[in-house]
Amino acid sequence: MRQPLVAGNWKMNGSKASAETLLAGIKEGMGGISKTEVLVCPPFPYLGLAVSALAGSRVAVGAQNACTEAGGAFTGEVSAAMVKDVGCIYVILGHSERRQYYGETDEIIAKKYAQALAAGLTPILCVGETLAERERGETQSVVARHLDGVMETAGIEAIARGVIAYEPVWAIGTGMTATPEQAQEVHAFLRQRVAAKSAEVAAGVRILYGGSMKPDNALELMSQADIDGGLIGGASLKASDFLAICRA
Ligand code: PEP
Repeated sequence: MRQPLVAGNWKMNGSKASAETLLAGIKEGMGGISKTEVLVCPPFPYLGLAVSALAGSRVAVGAQNACTEAGGAFTGEVSAAMVKDVGCIYVILGHSERRQYYGETDEIIAKKYAQALAAGLTPILCVGETLAERERGETQSVVARHLDGVMETAGIEAIARGVIAYEPVWAIGTGMTATPEQAQEVHAFLRQRVAAKSAEVAAGVRILYGGSMKPDNALELMSQADIDGGLIGGASLKASDFLAICRA
């Protein structure tokens, strides 16, 4: 039985004051959410603050990125070990915004994934196609390439220790959600691809959906057989919306 996970990706939004308000709202509103694992991923400067604010609650904290290297002369970078050291449990890797704006390749993401595991973090590996790729019928080959980037280099055991997030790029921040059927089709494909290496890992690995998930579409999406939760961007910035998705 896979425990659902709902993760909030705050991206580069907010301030210290707004982060405190949002964290307090989430902490206070957790009543009645018992089956779902809840995670928030604030920007780096607010990670320590989030860990302190959420102490004693059931809400975990994660980062949105971490370095390919373990440490040393890499100005401006943050290592997975540092993220772990301040109390984080998860790290989002390979988000399409990192791939698109910062040139992150599958090779870079695989290195970050290995660093995250070595540091004791649980990586959330984002995969997903652009609209043009979908229209060319390349959805499966693109998500397979993103998944294989880690699975073929770090091995199936690395997949067992992480979470996968299917995030169609055309649905991120656009209000254009994948239909439950479109999402389920890709989730099932990803699970089958993992199953080709290990049926046991495929049965246990959580695959989240991300892309304009909101309180009013979360239940339908998460009712699909292979959707095990959500990676939430915009709607994670409002405590009531985020909590409503966790309840779904
Ligand atoms: C995301 O960026 O991970 C995301 C899913 O964003 P949104 O929910 O805003 O589409």
